[in-house]
Amino acid sequence: MVSAWLSIMTVVALLVWMPAKQAYAEDGAPESGLLGRTIVLDPGHGAPDSGARSDSGILEKDITLSVALKLSQLLQQAGANVVLTRTTDDDLASEHDRHAGRRQSTDLRNRVLTAKAKHADAFISIHCNAVPSERWTGAQTLYQRGNPAGEKLAKVVQERFRELLLPTAREPAATSTLFLLKRIPGPAVIAEIGFLSNRQESVQLASQAYQRTVAFSIYLALYDYFSQQSSVPVPDSNVTFRDLREG
Ligand SMILES: [Zn+2]
Repeated sequence: MVSAWLSIMTVVALLVWMPAKQAYAEDGAPESGLLGRTIVLDPGHGAPDSGARSDSGILEKDITLSVALKLSQLLQQAGANVVLTRTTDDDLASEHDRHAGRRQSTDLRNRVLTAKAKHADAFISIHCNAVPSERWTGAQTLYQRGNPAGEKLAKVVQERFRELLLPTAREPAATSTLFLLKRIPGPAVIAEIGFLSNRQESVQLASQAYQRTVAFSIYLALYDYFSQQSSVPVPDSNVTFRDLREG
């Protein structure tokens, strides 16, 4: 039932979706606001860090990677330059970091470093939620409090989540404590795409069809975001490893 509803919603979305403003390249082909944008996609967790886990054994790290790869394909087709922080079941820490007990901090720092080194026009970190109660459901987008570009992107992503994913009344949430969002300026968000602790949502999150819909939602949101932009955001290029350690 839910699958049928989602398929219908996806088709409806495809039919009604019209770009707000369409530019044309010299050869007459439509040019999307995503053309030439560098989008850094960050599939949460990896390797020894599985992230959240459903009762049935679905792992957050697998869902986040699968959604990010699907999203990457859509963005590339629209002419974006996509950088993935990981493309396999791995994290961004070395064996040495693991043995030194700093696997998680190094992993997160390297994700930040990738976003900054690539001068990301947008950064999307993909995660799943899990809480002790089965009661909570719904995708939600997080942004750094006081970051207007992050807030703007979070709003368009949340709009598409509410439109296309399992029903939710969730609003984008401001945070000031998340490592990645504190350190990545500009349009940076964490997309919590659903709760693995809810049985129905975990089944959906594990399905290829729903993952494609999640990817499509974020793709549309990025299209919306860059179609509204009047100028290319200027990335902060004066960042060093030292800033990251001290940030
Ligand atoms: Zn996570």
